[in-house]
Amino acid sequence: MLRAGEVVAFPTETVYGLGADATSEAAVRRIYEIKGRPPSNPLIVHVPDARAGQALAMVWSDQAEALAQRFWPGPLTLVVPRGARIPAVVSAGLPTLALRVPAHPVALRLLQAVDRPLAAPSANRSEHLSPTRAEHVRQGLPEVPLILDGGPCRLGIESTVVSLCTCPPRLLRPGALPLRLLRACLPELQLGPEPGAPAASPGLSPRHYAPRARLLLSAEPAAVDPGPGPVGYLLRTTSPPRGAGRVERLPEDPEGYAADLYAALHRLDEAGVHTVVVESPPEGEAWMAVRDRLGRACSRAP
Ligand code: AMP
Ligand code: MG
Repeated sequence: MLRAGEVVAFPTETVYGLGADATSEAAVRRIYEIKGRPPSNPLIVHVPDARAGQALAMVWSDQAEALAQRFWPGPLTLVVPRGARIPAVVSAGLPTLALRVPAHPVALRLLQAVDRPLAAPSANRSEHLSPTRAEHVRQGLPEVPLILDGGPCRLGIESTVVSLCTCPPRLLRPGALPLRLLRACLPELQLGPEPGAPAASPGLSPRHYAPRARLLLSAEPAAVDPGPGPVGYLLRTTSPPRGAGRVERLPEDPEGYAADLYAALHRLDEAGVHTVVVESPPEGEAWMAVRDRLGRACSRAP
């Protein structure tokens, strides 16, 4: 199906991806169409190993090689200069290319079997919650003709995106690869896109990763007036108010929390709550990716 230009959803260790042949412009357009993704938001291309990644880049620096050796397969996406084999539509017209080798046996076997790079954003409608179970894909994108079911995603949050196209390199999106591990290999890393270069991080629109319910963040969820309609609580250390209906509890550590965050929000959406009161996650770098996703899920479209 992938060779024929169809889309196929597949599991990775981060979230489920909606894959298509990255070398086919028509196949890649199907991804944008199905997701309703703005054409300005570029896609990550998945490859089976570092050599396949290098072959798609126009420049493969020592830095790229060192990071690939250290973290691939794994939840790190590297943005490098784009080579000619990948059409511009994949990168929303940018001269760059985002690459990753996923650490999931099904994804790796698929990439090896199909023998083509696969463009694969998260398998959800644009701005909605990312899927961490095959079931989430089936419910969110019923028109996808094939979903490979690899069970629940181990990490549950999107990859960390680093641009190697700037000097020094920049973190474009915090994600599943902890920053302290990345920093140990890349001490010169700067946080956030280059000031005044908005096109460098197009996916970072304020509203993203959002459930249907309205999200309210508070350090003291029990004290919040949630307003009308059914209410859910997403808690970590605090107690719900007395008589609270729907309560989801997440682990206290950032990795455990991230792993179940989207699944918990999907469950709350399923339960039909109108508002979710979320206990604010802690400060500090270890919680940066979780704070980023919750912040985007909270912001309203302008
Ligand atoms: P998704 O696969 O849906 O999690 O989104 C892909 C993420 O990778 C978005 O945040 C994009 O902005 C980012 N991305 C993909 N390609 C590029 C690129 N060429 N330059 C910068 N960021 C990119
Ligand atoms: Mg996404």
